[in-house]
Amino acid sequence: MPQQHPGLSFASANRESPWRVYLEQIERVVPYLGRLADQAETLRRPKRALIVDIPIHMDDGRREHFEGYRVQHNLSRGPGKGGVRYHPSVSLDEVTALAAWMTIKTAAVNLPFGGAKGGVRVDPKTLSFKEIERLTRRYTSEINMIIGPDKDIAAPDVNTNEQIMAWMMDTYSMNVGHTATGVVTGKPLALGGSVGRQRATGQGVFFIAREAGQRLGIPIEGARVAVQGFGNVGGVAAEVFAAHRARVIAVQDESGTVYADAGLDIPALSAAAKSSGGVAASGIGETIDAEAFWELPTDFLVPAAMEGQVTRERANRIRTRALIEGANGPTSPEADDVLGERGITVVPDVIANAGGVTVSYFEWVQDFSSFFWTEDQVNRRLERILVGAFGRIWDIAREQRVSLRTAAYIVACERVLDQRRIRGLYP
Ligand code: NAD
Repeated sequence: MPQQHPGLSFASANRESPWRVYLEQIERVVPYLGRLADQAETLRRPKRALIVDIPIHMDDGRREHFEGYRVQHNLSRGPGKGGVRYHPSVSLDEVTALAAWMTIKTAAVNLPFGGAKGGVRVDPKTLSFKEIERLTRRYTSEINMIIGPDKDIAAPDVNTNEQIMAWMMDTYSMNVGHTATGVVTGKPLALGGSVGRQRATGQGVFFIAREAGQRLGIPIEGARVAVQGFGNVGGVAAEVFAAHRARVIAVQDESGTVYADAGLDIPALSAAAKSSGGVAASGIGETIDAEAFWELPTDFLVPAAMEGQVTRERANRIRTRALIEGANGPTSPEADDVLGERGITVVPDVIANAGGVTVSYFEWVQDFSSFFWTEDQVNRRLERILVGAFGRIWDIAREQRVSLRTAAYIVACERVLDQRRIRGLYP
């Protein structure tokens, strides 16, 4: 069981708490860390957490306040790295867990970054374009003192995009008095973005599914795939699966679930969902009940929406061979146990969706050197890093007879704690 930490008042023992899920994942890896285990406390605490008030003028002249966060979980290996989320359920607990998962993810794929994350508790669908710009600029100004190209670098996450990154970059640059493109990644190409970044997370989900499939005897061609979330991650992953002749039989987003046993026409679904506001009104496939989604027989199930989706109860009903975590933190530790007992392979978020942060790293490097790569260079380097990291994690899981999640945490925690050990304790 995770220990209680009185120093972290927000770290509730609530079963739905993403931070609780993260703490339990850490408890599961500690027995495998050998002499580094006595330093594991550093992983149970965020280094720095900032809560900010964001007052903005609404279009109708009213003033409204929003609450925002930026959490730096661990900076032992380099500047903080992590997205910014705009969602009504954003909380300090959630942002802290997401920051911690970035520490694990960047270390699992051996990028020279620490873990950070940001968010604003807001439903952006209720704001105008101009209101979102004002919210973004004020949020950026409020967290200005802890971000920067060599301090902490933001990126898109749920409900944020390259336009929001452009406003963050501009606001930060205005505040420091010079153009600093490296403060965010996932920027428009015209502002120093990288080719391939927008598709990188979904592309990476596919590379990792293919690697897992090779080892589990599941060929991609003809594989039955179900995807939850049809945004930046799930939408691109579904497209890439379909382009490689997998059968994407079901897609679920906030609007509903669509199904076609022969496989959905993903490019058509993508276009129709964009114009109709979601998959449910797209007119493509058959609309089915949201809970039935979890029971569809599949080879690959890809949760790519929000955390906490794969509960113990759903884990008992899931009929897939490999669950590839496109989202961050979709599976509870209890569900992990059920899936493991049922022989379903879970490929954890910290490797399955690491394609985004890997190309963010490429973008940051390109910004520093002002020397830009081709899409082919980006994709080949992305594939090499992800395939190498996955192979190592797979081998450790087999050798030590642990889940892929614990194996990924062994690799990542050893890297973070070893770096910490060598640096020593200040002062
Ligand atoms: P997005 O905003 O582009 O898309 C989110 C999708 O999930 C939308 O289709 C939305 O309708 C759907 N969704 C939301 N809540 C849902 C629910 N309860 N049931 C069904 N569908 C729901 O977000 P994104 O960037 O694709 O991020 C999705 C997940 O992937 C998040 O967990 C995020 O942290 C993670 N992630 C994103 C990136 C990235 O590069 N964008 C990188 C790594 C991990």
